[in-house]
Amino acid sequence: PSLEDTLLSAIRTIPDYPKPGILFRDITTLLGNARAFRRAVDELVHPYAGSKIDKIAGIEARGFILGGAIAHQLSSGFIPIRKKGKLPHETVRVAYSLEYGLDEMEMHADAVEPGEKVILVDDLIATGGTAEAAVRLLRQMGADIVAACFVIDLPDLGGRARLEGLGVDVHTLIAFE
Ligand code: IMP
Repeated sequence: PSLEDTLLSAIRTIPDYPKPGILFRDITTLLGNARAFRRAVDELVHPYAGSKIDKIAGIEARGFILGGAIAHQLSSGFIPIRKKGKLPHETVRVAYSLEYGLDEMEMHADAVEPGEKVILVDDLIATGGTAEAAVRLLRQMGADIVAACFVIDLPDLGGRARLEGLGVDVHTLIAFE
């Protein structure tokens, strides 16, 4: 089967979650499907095979699962980007807006050295607000962001264009209109 068929059939869509009118794309079914999980990770890694990537930065929580597997494949380190208050050492923090109100994310202040090549990873990009905040944190610490990778793109919400506008290369595997 094609990449698209493999991924489409492995992703579950849940209507009205977490709120009425939202179609939630659930990748837990993809993660639970050995073939689809391997395929997704292999395709996310493919453009960077053989490049020296110092670190993969994963966004809590599904970005940790994908990012850990990608880091292993590329022999890179891993950086967790977390909701505020979860990391034990000194952090840098950035505020970003959600649909209602503000939230903050953090990473350890010593997680990246200036000039290190970093790939940002999450399961899905919608408006791009979450990924943009992560890009700002990483750049604040001097990271060289090689790309931002997602399994799913929701192109109608404009996240890809938003990141590209910041000069970030975006790599996604499938889109849901
Ligand atoms: P954005 O900030 O609007 O791009 O939203 C992306 C963030 O929200 C990511 O961390 C996603 O994991 C999460 N998210 C938004 N919509 C969905 C969905 O339909 N399925 C899974 N995660 C979602």
